[in-house]
Amino acid sequence: MIDIENIDVSYGNIQVLWDLSMRVSEADSVVTIVGPNGAGKSTLLDVMSGLHPVDDGRVTLWGDDVSSLDPSEVVKRGFVHVSEERNLFGEMTVRENLEMGAYTRRETLGETLEEVYELFPILEERADQRAGSMSGGQQQMLALGRGLMARPKILALDEPSEGLAPQITERVFEKIEEISEEVTVLLVEQHVHDALTLADRAYLLENGRIKAENTGQALLESEHVAEAYL
Ligand code: ATP
Repeated sequence: MIDIENIDVSYGNIQVLWDLSMRVSEADSVVTIVGPNGAGKSTLLDVMSGLHPVDDGRVTLWGDDVSSLDPSEVVKRGFVHVSEERNLFGEMTVRENLEMGAYTRRETLGETLEEVYELFPILEERADQRAGSMSGGQQQMLALGRGLMARPKILALDEPSEGLAPQITERVFEKIEEISEEVTVLLVEQHVHDALTLADRAYLLENGRIKAENTGQALLESEHVAEAYL
């Protein structure tokens, strides 16, 4: 579904991704990218979303070069990116936020809303509440739900545990696992242990380069990951 071949990416004249290759295929249920602050994980998701250009190399989504697609076309094809900032509309209700997520899929809105409410009953209970008045954990559930409203084939999640207490993080991870039964999840995380436990394939990104690629379990057991991250 996604093929990234030898990309170099910069901000101005500062290069942040180096000769990076990776792929996400239909057989994957959870692919994880782990790595420290500033490694380039969010930049990589922005590149896949068509929000940031590459200097060299190529990114294809379902066979098409992402540079030829505008961001809404990327969403329509099935790649949905839930950013670290969540970007909810705080003054709007929970339901309105969910409806916004379906802007490329108006025709199936009602049906998808039912599915999202089934996965997140709290969102139905709070449907008429202002999104900004919900707790951090509930807002994260809303961000996941809104991502699903676009009926993605790949749901890319940037640090879904950001700012959440450990117990809430655990619940968010349970939901991600449930989502991954239907949709391929591309998970970017600093919670290395949880993220690798969930992953069937994982990439370790350090200083803009892929340092290791393996099954989640194998990376979890690798000496380097154990020493540097666990
Ligand atoms: P974090 O978890 O902190 O978000 P990350 O692995 O997602 O880290 P990126 O946010 O992709 O890393 O950042 C990669 C590098 O690019 C960092 O050195 C960062 O300072 C730099 N960077 C990110 N955004 C910009 C920008 N808009 N302009 C200039 N440099 C940037």
